[in-house]
Amino acid sequence: MDAAPLPPIPFLDLKAQQARLGPGLRARLDAVLAHGQYILGPEVAELEAKLATFCGAKHCVSVSSGTDALQIALMAEGVGRGDAVFLPAFTYTATAEVPLLLGATPVFVDVDPGSFQIDLVSLRARIAQVKQAGKLTPRAVIGVDLFGQPADWAGLRAIAAEHGLFTLDDCAQSFGAAQDGERLGKAADATATSFFPSKPLGAYGDGGALFTQSDERAALYRSLRTHGEGAQRYEVLRIGMNGRLDTMQAAVLLAKLDVFEGEIARREAIARIYDAELAGVVETPARVPGAQSAWAVYSVLLPSAARRDAARAALQAANIGNAVYYPRALHQQPAYAACHDGTALPVAESLGARILALPIHPDLSDEQALRVAATLRVAVTG
Ligand SMILES: *Cc1c(COP(=O)(O)O)cnc(C)c1O
Repeated sequence: MDAAPLPPIPFLDLKAQQARLGPGLRARLDAVLAHGQYILGPEVAELEAKLATFCGAKHCVSVSSGTDALQIALMAEGVGRGDAVFLPAFTYTATAEVPLLLGATPVFVDVDPGSFQIDLVSLRARIAQVKQAGKLTPRAVIGVDLFGQPADWAGLRAIAAEHGLFTLDDCAQSFGAAQDGERLGKAADATATSFFPSKPLGAYGDGGALFTQSDERAALYRSLRTHGEGAQRYEVLRIGMNGRLDTMQAAVLLAKLDVFEGEIARREAIARIYDAELAGVVETPARVPGAQSAWAVYSVLLPSAARRDAARAALQAANIGNAVYYPRALHQQPAYAACHDGTALPVAESLGARILALPIHPDLSDEQALRVAATLRVAVTG
């Protein structure tokens, strides 16, 4: 007789989180329905102040998504045709899409095989290559804090200073992460984050924010998110976009911010269970020294594509949620083929076949995490 099937373990469990948030969330939403200021209502300013305090940044400007945050940051610098924007090849498409939309050229950089973060040796080589070719002007570097860990911002700032590059932190997956006790938000000239529901601090819809220490940049971001508006309503100083965060989403985020630190601690506890249970079974993610991860994603590496696919099938069969971030490096995607110069980026090119993300949401129990690890162990070691 077959044993009763074990209950599924979801990759993400927003229903459990919603139940845990309790009546505080409803009270926040009801307050918005009562005052009716759906665009730039009081919750938006309250959230911006709290987020800036949370990460220690001077300014927070909330926007409509992480992608729009990246776009507004590059628009404010006037990045466009003829400019090279350096970014890791192993990231979500939004990082590279934005410079292309503005007419600039993304220059893909390889990543570190252990931490998956942008590789500074490759970055130096790519900058030298662009300078040598003489067709593009090196303008900006977008460091992505992939999967919740910080990129090497001290290293990135040093290289950027040497070459006069604007530094943009794509912190979409890593808001709440810290390096040497300092939360991300002021590691670069501008920091962009996302409140997409699956991100560590997720809304119930799209949302994002920009952080900066610069008064001038913050003022530009506010203008650009409202069609380039000046001090007067309907005074149009520049071409901007409709890039505001909804008041309803700000209300959701205020309720979630109250429990956010506890959620990061819970994700860290799950990561430690996986680290311990999977040591020697798969390659567990290398920790960036001195960093606290926000653990958006816990990705392991299998020895080959075939072993990864088999492990994935075993998790699927056991009703355990899993995902592959990302099956291909960006320069291997059809949409980016034309803008890539053909340089081989061997690490980024090899990760997609071997990587596998395990569930790590804050409502996952120790018991569930142990079951995930045990299922993976059996799949790998037999
Ligand atoms: C999610 C994500 C974005 C885009 O954020 P949205 O809010 O979905 O627009 C950008 N960069 C990275 C690395 C992301 O993971």
